[in-house]
Amino acid sequence: SGRWALHGKTALVTGGTRGIGRAVVEELAALGAAVHTCSRKAEELGERIKEWEARGFRVTGSVCDLSERDQRERLLREVGNRFGGKLNILVNNVGTNIRKPTTEFTAEEYSFVMATNLESAYHLCQIAHPLLKLSGSGSIIFISSVCGMVGVFSGTIYAMTKGAINQLTKNIACEWAKDNIRANSVAPWYITTSLTERLLANKDFEEQVVSRTPLGRVGEPEEISALVAFLCMPGSTYITGQTIAVDGGMTVNGFY
Ligand code: NDP
Repeated sequence: SGRWALHGKTALVTGGTRGIGRAVVEELAALGAAVHTCSRKAEELGERIKEWEARGFRVTGSVCDLSERDQRERLLREVGNRFGGKLNILVNNVGTNIRKPTTEFTAEEYSFVMATNLESAYHLCQIAHPLLKLSGSGSIIFISSVCGMVGVFSGTIYAMTKGAINQLTKNIACEWAKDNIRANSVAPWYITTSLTERLLANKDFEEQVVSRTPLGRVGEPEEISALVAFLCMPGSTYITGQTIAVDGGMTVNGFY
């Protein structure tokens, strides 16, 4: 397998039917990896898999809700079966947001966002660990957010989950280095996906976002998947424990 390719590698990408996850599935598959993905909607997942097969990609999928502990365990059993008990790449992409003032969140909303964004990523790392270790060379990528690095009026619980993911990245990087497993976190600013399309359709809101972004625009899913792919390749084998912003310069914009 070449320095800029992923031939012979196996990957689990959570939430691959839309947005950033979809771009990651396609990027890794195009570079030669065999990919397994998942989402909650059977029909959409089936359509994607047909499209991917038509493009010659080796992608399979499971229908599962990653906010549920037993469904994560089932997913990992399916991944283990497909890839012979080994896994090179785990991309923890699934995440969601509820945007409202901090004083207005209910206990149910707190639990839902925590389970979907943070507990699922943490638990998937736990249960994927034996497969990643057995592969001899593992790479975990978390799709975090710049909202876990700086204060953004996007939703406090969401931001808390992303900040915790950035710390989880550091702990796992240190603890599992002995198993030749690296862990890194990719932190996007606004990217056009189904998660943000309604927000960004509000042109006043988009203008506010863009006015804080040195590159003067929001990002595309392919601008995230490119870094994810690099972090899985032989060229990045000395990078671990990092959170890397892909944000058009937003987090370095003091006051321009
Ligand atoms: P989308 O909502 O567009 O896509 C989310 C994907 O995850 C879909 O495939 C969805 O399928 C799946 N998914 C969601 N919840 C679950 C679940 N409980 N179990 C299984 N699958 C699930 O999101 P994005 O692509 O925008 O976001 C992906 C990641 O990127 C998230 O972690 C998000 O926080 C992060 N991010 C996004 C930014 C943006 O501007 N878009 C900015 C910063 C970070 P289905 O609904 O059918 O289950």
